[in-house]
Amino acid sequence: ERGRLARLRHTPAITLDGQKIELLANIEMPEDAAAAVAAGAVGVGLFRSEFLFMGRKGDLPGEDEQYGAYRRAIDGMQGLPVTIRTIDVGADKWLDDGHRDAAHLNPALGLRAIRWSLADPAMFLTQLRAILRAAAHGKVNLLIPMLAHGSEIRQMLSLLDIARAELDARGVPYGPVALGAMIEIPAAALTLRTFLRYFDFLSIGTNDLIQYTLAIDRADESVAHLYDPLHPAVLQLVARTIAECNAQGKGVSVCGEMAGDTTFTRLLLGLGLRCFSMHPAQILAVKQEVLRADAQRLAGWAQEVLAAEEPAQLLG
Ligand code: PEP
Ligand code: MG
Repeated sequence: ERGRLARLRHTPAITLDGQKIELLANIEMPEDAAAAVAAGAVGVGLFRSEFLFMGRKGDLPGEDEQYGAYRRAIDGMQGLPVTIRTIDVGADKWLDDGHRDAAHLNPALGLRAIRWSLADPAMFLTQLRAILRAAAHGKVNLLIPMLAHGSEIRQMLSLLDIARAELDARGVPYGPVALGAMIEIPAAALTLRTFLRYFDFLSIGTNDLIQYTLAIDRADESVAHLYDPLHPAVLQLVARTIAECNAQGKGVSVCGEMAGDTTFTRLLLGLGLRCFSMHPAQILAVKQEVLRADAQRLAGWAQEVLAAEEPAQLLG
């Protein structure tokens, strides 16, 4: 099976009815780019930059170190696009610098991801400058996690302006970035109009979208049986996000675990998804599903799944 899948590495991911599908890689460190290229990924759809910061005991990477790391990822992808997500710590991932505070009883609902970044603008500006500088060396998409409020979007945008102005003032070169938002809070999926006004593309983080839609801690074993990607509420939020982006000609991807699980490939194709980002180890298996799929025919079936009380019964 492995050998057979390996032969698909250079096969373009195109459905039976001719739909081109982008299969991208999720990476945690710049060196993971090698595995992404080896698996035939056509880019990085999610570089979880927080892994550069974790385990650093107070000595966080500065602008030059981050710039170096982002450049290694870009160079490693050999001209393919790289989507760098700004730091997402505070819930299931923590810095090792004493920031963790037991007083935050509900960390997943607390100072996490973009909320953390907006609370520490100096740290955020450092990261933004490093990413902008790296973008001079390849096609870079800048992805912001955990946004829910229009005010957060506008604050983030004004910091991005400031980061560019700081680089201008120093005479340091930087490149253009496409700007994306993670859709991982139900409030975001329900206010897509706001998001589509400000962003070039959206990326659906199903890991958190499921957690927040169903009120199930994604890391709590005792409720893991209720963590259901096929809950009709989750599917509705995923479906409307894909449909709305497609209708407006904006890019949309899924970068949560759902994208790399072959159980869901046909359903996501049927819902109109054309861009999947996943662990490199999943890419060939998902590609095999894509090659066997007829997206046109799956579209009608996906609407039935969406309307079902127990969608899992229709997946088989
Ligand atoms: C997600 O929430 O689906 C996601 C991709 O981000 P993370 O798993 O890093 O929270
Ligand atoms: Mg997430």
